[in-house]
Amino acid sequence: AIETLYDKDGSLAPLQGKTIAVIGYGSQGHAHAQNLRDSGLTVIVANRKESTNGKLAIEHGFDPLPVDEAVKQADLIAIALPDEVQPDVYEASIAPNLTAGKTLLFTHGFNVHFGTITPPEDVNVVMVAPKGPGHTVRWEYERGGGVPTLMAVHQDATGDAKDQALAYAIGNGGGKGGILVTNFKDECETDLFGEQVVLCGGLSESIKKGFEVLTEAGYPPELAYFEVCHELELIINLIKRGGLDYMRYSISNTAEFGDYYTGPKICDDDTKKRMEAALKHIQDGSFAKAFRDDYANGFKWFKQQRAENAGHGVESVGKELRRMMPWLKPVELSDGGPVEV
Ligand code: NDP
Ligand code: MG
Ligand code: MG
Repeated sequence: AIETLYDKDGSLAPLQGKTIAVIGYGSQGHAHAQNLRDSGLTVIVANRKESTNGKLAIEHGFDPLPVDEAVKQADLIAIALPDEVQPDVYEASIAPNLTAGKTLLFTHGFNVHFGTITPPEDVNVVMVAPKGPGHTVRWEYERGGGVPTLMAVHQDATGDAKDQALAYAIGNGGGKGGILVTNFKDECETDLFGEQVVLCGGLSESIKKGFEVLTEAGYPPELAYFEVCHELELIINLIKRGGLDYMRYSISNTAEFGDYYTGPKICDDDTKKRMEAALKHIQDGSFAKAFRDDYANGFKWFKQQRAENAGHGVESVGKELRRMMPWLKPVELSDGGPVEV
């Protein structure tokens, strides 16, 4: 079994008296910076001051610095910038200010694993990757829990890189959920596979196709939305607490029978072959190249997909229905980010 560590297996000591710079105050950054500070560690933040995230950092009591200044002041530099942005910011503002013995911490192995960032040999290179969205990382910490976290050491220059990474993971709440010791390759490739094939890509397309089939057959979009989207949360909660068998125990026999009867016809051996092809595409670097190339092209394809998806029927009817369910605390995206409606 993979080595799994909890609060009792480490301490914050390796980072006490040190300065941690969290670079970027977005989804992961805002959570890590506040969690580590609430754990009693010394945290500074780098972000543009005028942006929505910069203002949020100020509201939360940080004084956002330029990246180069934060790197100069810090012993441990946690990079919480979008993966596509990291190589340029690394070259311009991080690398020139990295001195021997500092620790570079990533929240995803992408750039190091695919070779778009190559840190010098005299710094520690570690990863602490919570297995959840940044906002959950903060919520869980606030209620005394923590998100399960992957941890890895790519380069140990000081002899205590693993202890520092463990202290960071514990300070961020990961020691409550379990800290799984892995390596950059495994974290990176399984993370990309999970989000593309099951969690995000596979799920979004299942919802869209299910909605299309029902509405094209003449059923009301409201019914379709509840059946293929809204109820998902209830199913996921059962799976999360007790696995597929507990979910199947809780649903009706009719639903469970239909699960076995129809499920394998929808997601069959051909689907599995396409999943294997997706994994190959990740492993051989083709996915990373496609992502980088589109970024270099102004994310043209990416932005077009985002616009087309926002116009899907399941989105418009969903928005209307969620407005009628204020207890769900519905959120809608605007240019300035998500707003509660
Ligand atoms: P976000 O997009 O939420 O945050 C990006 C932050 O970077 C913002 O504060 C933004 O500042 C800043 N930024 C963006 N562009 C630039 C730039 N050109 N120069 C300087 N700062 C910039 O990122 P995420 O938190 O989603 O991702 C960060 C890392 O965490 C990635 O490696 C990702 O793979 C990893 N990760 C993310 C998870 C998630 O839940 N989102 C889950 C696990 C890992 P500004 O507001 O000024 O634009
Ligand atoms: Mg990911
Ligand atoms: Mg039903």
